[in-house]
Amino acid sequence: MKKHNFSAGPAILPQSVKEKASQAALDYEGIGLSLMEISHRGKHFVGILEQTEAHVRQLFNLGDEYAVLFLTGGASTQFFMSAMNLANPSDKVAFVDTGTWSSKSIKEAKLFTNVDVIASSEDKDYTYVPKGYSVPEDAKYLHLTSNNTIYGTQIKDWIDCPCPIVCDMSSDIFSRPVPIEKFGMIYAGAQKNVGPAGVTLAVIRKDLLGKVERTIPTMLDYKTHIAKGSSFNTPPVFPIYVTMLTLSWIIENGGTAAMEKRNAEKANLLYDEIDRNPLFYGPVAKEDRSHMNATFLLNDDSKEKAFLDMCQSAGIVGLKGHRSVGGFRASIYNALDKESVEVLTEVMRNLAS
Ligand SMILES: *Cc1c(COP(=O)(O)O)cnc(C)c1O
Repeated sequence: MKKHNFSAGPAILPQSVKEKASQAALDYEGIGLSLMEISHRGKHFVGILEQTEAHVRQLFNLGDEYAVLFLTGGASTQFFMSAMNLANPSDKVAFVDTGTWSSKSIKEAKLFTNVDVIASSEDKDYTYVPKGYSVPEDAKYLHLTSNNTIYGTQIKDWIDCPCPIVCDMSSDIFSRPVPIEKFGMIYAGAQKNVGPAGVTLAVIRKDLLGKVERTIPTMLDYKTHIAKGSSFNTPPVFPIYVTMLTLSWIIENGGTAAMEKRNAEKANLLYDEIDRNPLFYGPVAKEDRSHMNATFLLNDDSKEKAFLDMCQSAGIVGLKGHRSVGGFRASIYNALDKESVEVLTEVMRNLAS
């Protein structure tokens, strides 16, 4: 039976990507060797790395002022590595707190610089995105989390800001076009929307680097990885390859503008059902609803088992809400077909009838 994978991460990948990756695991393009057993300095992988970077540059429309890096340690390492590389202890850095992931980035940045939390949605359990705040003129950068994977909120309008934005885009990267000129840095763990776990994508404006006084360990210095083209040490070869395939798939399917349209169709279908169906409600402010992770709850908890049983019979997996918030969360990343959302909304309708 076909599974409908609503998992928040590691998450669904396009079928064609999985097929090509399986083949490469056994025999990469007929060379008689697996991609997992060849040198990261050989022409095959060097070609893959170049292609992956070219895809990132195309999808973000990046100029030469930006570097593209493939790192390890997850987005969680970027929480501190960005502050360590971009801000001195005496600098001021502005943060918007939209819940779990941004709270973690605040905690880590505090180890290296002055953190000014200029807005937070904690007062309403992170069910909305703060707006109408102003960014201090002397802030070195503004850190945002574009999509809160756990609460199901998403920033829809990018603030006019006197400084560059540093953005954790782990759960909505390449799901829509973004005004790249506003960003000094973008980072994302691959496992939500661009590939398997193991590689972290970072895009950095090069002129922001080399301005801190501290000594940075070689492996944690962005300049090291820029100088060595993400191959200072052994990069995560296979995850980078699968990321390359996924980015190719995005480009072949019309790029970020087409993804935005496709994701909006799926999100609207699901949110319409949540609003229409008397058994369910969505906790997030309507204008801030994520097009990647839709969170919803049952009005009557006693129906939960029946709902989950019906989901299971329909092949729906990964619908349980994050352990910190409960309820349900349907992650509807780029690779998820509209058909899967149709199956889910049908189960929701059937539960109500
Ligand atoms: C999943 C997630 C992270 C954590 O990513 P890791 O790669 O596991 O460190 C950080 N930020 C956001 C927004 C996420 O969704």
